Amino acid sequence: MSLAAEPGTIDGVVVRPPHDPPRAAVLSVGDELLLGDITDTNATWISRRLTEQGVEVVHQLSVGDDEERLAAALTWLAGQVHLVVVGGGLGPTADDRTREAVAAAAGVELRHDADLEEAIVQRFAAMGRPMAPQNLRQARLPVGARPFPPVGTAPAFALTLTDPSPTRVVALPGVPWELHALWEAHVVDEVAALAGRRVTVTRVLHVVGRGESDVAAVVEPVVGDRDDVILALLAKGHEIQVRLTVSADDRTAALEASQPLVEELSTALDGAVAGVDDEDLETVVLRLLGERGATLATAESATGGDIAARLARVPGASQALLGSVVVYATEAKQRLLEVAPALLADHGPVSAEVTEALAAAVRERFGADYAIAVTGVAGPATLDDLPVGTGFWALAHPDGGVEVHGRRIPGDRGQVLLRLGSAALDLLRRRLVGA
Ligand code: ATP
Ligand code: MG
Repeated sequence: MSLAAEPGTIDGVVVRPPHDPPRAAVLSVGDELLLGDITDTNATWISRRLTEQGVEVVHQLSVGDDEERLAAALTWLAGQVHLVVVGGGLGPTADDRTREAVAAAAGVELRHDADLEEAIVQRFAAMGRPMAPQNLRQARLPVGARPFPPVGTAPAFALTLTDPSPTRVVALPGVPWELHALWEAHVVDEVAALAGRRVTVTRVLHVVGRGESDVAAVVEPVVGDRDDVILALLAKGHEIQVRLTVSADDRTAALEASQPLVEELSTALDGAVAGVDDEDLETVVLRLLGERGATLATAESATGGDIAARLARVPGASQALLGSVVVYATEAKQRLLEVAPALLADHGPVSAEVTEALAAAVRERFGADYAIAVTGVAGPATLDDLPVGTGFWALAHPDGGVEVHGRRIPGDRGQVLLRLGSAALDLLRRRLVGA
């Protein structure tokens, strides 16, 4: 290893002039990507990790298993970026061309690496399997490449192209778990050398119950044009994530630099921030219940148990979540939670009145402190005269009182169900924090 302390220098070659922010590209290799057979989750994963380390990803490119096209793509990208991360094409078969393409783009030959050959022979011996001669293709590397010891079967490597400008190429296997393991073991250091060891921290504010443009209008003026912060809004089903990426010399400094902004934004968003960083809505609700020693039950019509399932995914949910009754059919509301037939007939199964009755009944049934209930029309068909997206959510309080809310929720079926569940959970969260 000769990762230099000088930012932007790897193996003695200045890949990035000090004044240039590091730019990267992700090059995914494989016919199966172009045929639409698999989704390129590697590119998403790699881009996120690069961004976290303060590298700007400016291209994602997919190329089939074709040596010439791969070499051409590498040569073009080398003129655009300081780092190309290649995923795939390192297998032992004849259609795996990444080694050859990188060598061609670098203008070097492939050499046989005795250590890699030894590792491959050992691996087959350990498995007690005969080794086909073609497996030794994986012991070949472009001259000048730094091999990464394999974590699975495919040896990975890094090499600096010098033409048209210095570009570090890191070639990793396409198998996601191998790629991830090699990233942690070797690539993090390569990227740190390139980015000058500045760390980047992304803070996430989970905003519930407000629309994206509404959130943007509040957030953008607060962040202003600070050039140490990258602001991004991400609509994720039932929530808007406000993501603040802050760079500093170390993690503590980045956290310190971002904290006042996180607090300012939380205030500006007026209680709509359900949680920060790893604490999403479900986690926060369970933490707040746990702190109060309080319990919860749910009665779910439209969401079919999804609210309880979302809570159950959080470790330790059993401290607070007592259970859930899925009362999907109208008759189930009557039989399992004793909603009066007259109430159902007068107001319909999707109504404030029935939702309120469900919350009160399920709280009683479970002997819970709090209970939430939801009913709604998720679509595609309307119900009675109610439009798609109509939703009601109710919260039964420890004193037996019940509050109920309703509105029309935008989105497709999946989004309506997620947002309806979130509305109910967020109501509980707000009451638990006294809002
Ligand atoms: P390797 O360099 O690991 O030998 P390869 O191109 O030979 O890569 P493949 O046999 O094409 O690997 O793929 C191995 C596995 O990795 C498959 O399960 C494939 O679905 C998965 N895979 C390959 N590329 C990607 C990608 N870009 N995103 C997600 N999964 C991928
Ligand atoms: Mg492949």
